[in-house]
Amino acid sequence: TAERRKEAVVVAPEMPPFDYVPPPYNGPSGDEIMAKRKEYLSPSVFHFYKTPLHVVEGKMQYLYDDKGRRYVDAFGGIATVGCGHCHPDVVAAIVEQTKKLQHSTVLYLNSVITDFAETLASKLPGDLKVVFFTNSGTEANELAMMIARLYTGCHDIISLRNGYHGNGAGTMAATAQSIWKFNIVQSGVHHAMNPDPYRGVFGSDGEKYARDVQDIINFGTSGNVAGFISEAIQGVGGIVELAPGYLSHAYNIVKNAGGLCIADEVQAGFARTGSHFWGFENQGVVPDIVTMAKSIGNGIPLGAVVTTPEIAQVLTRRNYFNTFGGNPVCTAAGLAVMRVIEKEKLQQNAFEVGNYLKERLNGLKDKYELIGDVRGRGMLLGVELVTDRKLKTPAKAEIVHVMDQLKELGVLVGKGGYYGNVFRILPPLCFTKEDADFLADAMDYSLSRM
Ligand code: PLP
Repeated sequence: TAERRKEAVVVAPEMPPFDYVPPPYNGPSGDEIMAKRKEYLSPSVFHFYKTPLHVVEGKMQYLYDDKGRRYVDAFGGIATVGCGHCHPDVVAAIVEQTKKLQHSTVLYLNSVITDFAETLASKLPGDLKVVFFTNSGTEANELAMMIARLYTGCHDIISLRNGYHGNGAGTMAATAQSIWKFNIVQSGVHHAMNPDPYRGVFGSDGEKYARDVQDIINFGTSGNVAGFISEAIQGVGGIVELAPGYLSHAYNIVKNAGGLCIADEVQAGFARTGSHFWGFENQGVVPDIVTMAKSIGNGIPLGAVVTTPEIAQVLTRRNYFNTFGGNPVCTAAGLAVMRVIEKEKLQQNAFEVGNYLKERLNGLKDKYELIGDVRGRGMLLGVELVTDRKLKTPAKAEIVHVMDQLKELGVLVGKGGYYGNVFRILPPLCFTKEDADFLADAMDYSLSRM
């Protein structure tokens, strides 16, 4: 059969060479860790694979397990390790700062914190220059929504269906996927139609989807709103790049209703999309507030909210404080991240290798019916698996199988989307063309065996 012919030609690929051999691992076994995990970690903690992966070391775009086996990490710690696992410059900055001053709050002066704030501001357009540091993306989005509410005196926030903004009370309300929400009282958030070019009713017409924002304002609010929050490319939602032109139309509508526009750059920021440093720049808009986390500290817990001096004034009405926000070790990591992105031209690499990988994945789409869509930008790519291309039936069981097979070959990818049928490919930005080929060949091999 055709399937058998395919099987005959696709051979298991070899991982690109890499000049590092980890020392033997002598710690607790995966089974021992698993037993402890079951007893002591929250039962909400889940893992991806049939046999959980026990990672003991990370080096740039690779992870090593307890047997010393190397994996291409195309999930990149969920888009956190933009510079690569344990990048030597970032590690050196962390170690040096830890020895000097491990903690200081913003109650005292410290140049690391202000230097990093200045560096972030220099990367943002317009008057976006006042930084408030947090420890996570959730905290950053909670604060951003609070600022919008304080500034406008309104309570209503609009976010997008299928968006993900965190797991706090307010951010869970803004998140619009039932699988990430608990049934607790949350108010004041309206969810607009998602400008999803693959599954949405208006295809790639961003303007048509934006009309729903106007409808929500007209029929669901008093006519004024506090703000609008969205990702430019939805990450957890399955790498959905908003239809072209959507944000500029939506932002205009929101501004006319007195609201502030919040760009959630937690996943798409820090050069990941390749074409621009920030995801929102791909839509040609300038937000009023930008939130960030993940790649900002190359995996070190850090988040930030950046807004204009005028809007930031609202936080002077009361005391507002965050004990760890802007911790000098984290901000030293942040400074090192910015230097590495510049020095190693990671944005350019994300663009070039990302485009190449997307092309390879599109080639697989031509070959396998199971691939319904390939999308995204730079090092933020999605591959949606469907059992029926016309009906777009999510291939939920198949993706689990392919993902396990990829792991066996030495490739780690993420999985997401509401139906859990989208591969999320978010490698460190130092990912090479050889890594991209290996990933695509491994996917080819795995799909040929379905
Ligand atoms: N916003 C986006 C776009 C995210 O992808 C995430 C996490 O996945 C968050 C916010 C929440 O960030 P954190 O998990 O750091 O709280």
